[in-house]
Amino acid sequence: MVLYLVVPCYNEEEVLHETTKRLTEKLNTMIEKELVSKESRILYVDDGSRDKTWEIIEKLNAENPFVEGVKLAHNRGHQNALLAGLMTAKEYCDAAISLDADLQDDTDVIDKFVEEYNKGNDVVYGVRDSRKTDTFFKKFTAEGFYKVMKILGVDVVFNHADYRLMSKRALEALSEYKEVNLFLRGIVPLIGFKSSKVFYERHERFAGESKYPLKKMIAFATDGITSFSVKPLKLISNLGIIISFLSIIALIYALVSYLTGVAVPGWTAIIASIWLLGGIQLFCMGVVGTYVGKIYNEVKQRPRFLIETHLKK
Ligand code: UDP
Ligand code: MG
Repeated sequence: MVLYLVVPCYNEEEVLHETTKRLTEKLNTMIEKELVSKESRILYVDDGSRDKTWEIIEKLNAENPFVEGVKLAHNRGHQNALLAGLMTAKEYCDAAISLDADLQDDTDVIDKFVEEYNKGNDVVYGVRDSRKTDTFFKKFTAEGFYKVMKILGVDVVFNHADYRLMSKRALEALSEYKEVNLFLRGIVPLIGFKSSKVFYERHERFAGESKYPLKKMIAFATDGITSFSVKPLKLISNLGIIISFLSIIALIYALVSYLTGVAVPGWTAIIASIWLLGGIQLFCMGVVGTYVGKIYNEVKQRPRFLIETHLKK
C-alpha cells in the first residue's frame, strides 16, 4: 500500500532536516517490513512561509527519494495547507497520514496507523494519551474546548488533533465538503466510514517555536464552533423567552409599586416596556437567527450522503 505522509510547514526551516531524517528512517523500516510500498512519500506543503522553508524542501526533493513538495501561493493557515496536501496526495496514495512538521506527534505509532488501516479502517484517529507536556493553561483551554464542542452538539474525537490516517476513499469523501471555513477534525467524523483510534504521547517541539499563538488558537476554536453548530443562535431565542418571562415578574413588581404609590410617575411604564420589549426583541432575533442558521447550513452545500458500500452483481 502506498502511504503518503502529509506535512504542512509554515516557517519551519529549523526542523525540516531533522524531520526528513526521521521520517525517511521510518519509511525505510516500514518498507523493509513490507508494511508500505516503495512508492510511499513524504509530502511537504509550504504554507506561504517567509523563511527558507521552500528552498529546503526543493533541496530535499532533489536529494531524497521520498520527499515531494507543494507550495501554496499565500499563507492560508494550517487547516487549508493540510487540505491542499491531502487533496494532492489522494491522487497517488492508498492512504495518507497528516502530521505536524515539528514531529510533536509520536512517529513510532505510524506502524499502528497502517495496521489499523489493514484491518479495514478508513479513518484512524491519533488520540493523545495524556497532556503531560502541556502547560496548565493549554491543557485547561484545550480540554475545555472539546467539552464545549460536545455540549454544542459537535461530534469531535476527544483529544484528537490532526494526526490521523485517511484512506483514499475517505479523502475522496472529504473532497465533497466544499466549505470554506475549514475545521477538519469536525468534518472527518461526519464522513463516517469504519474508524478506529491509536493512542500516543505528544512530545515537545524539538526546534523552532509554535506557529499557533493564542490569537490563532482562539480564531480556530471559534471557527470550529460556528462552522458546526447553530446552537449559539438558538441560545438567543432561549434567552429571549427567559427575559420575556422575567418581564412579567418585573411588570407585576412595577404595578405593585405604582398601586402602593412608591413609584415616581412614569417609572412603571418605562420599566414595563424596557423588560417586555427587550425580551420580545431578543426572541425575534433568535427566530431570525434560526433561519439564518438554516441558510448557513444550505450555503455550505455539504454532501447529503456518502455511500460506504455498494453491493451489486
Ligand atoms: N502551520 C501551517 N500554517 C500556519 C501555521 C502552522 O502550515 O499558518 C503548520 C506548522 O508548520 C506545523 C503545524 O501547522 O507543521 C502545527 O503548528 P505548530 O506546531 O506551530 O502548532 P502547535 O503544535 O504549537 O499547536
Ligand atoms: Mg507543534
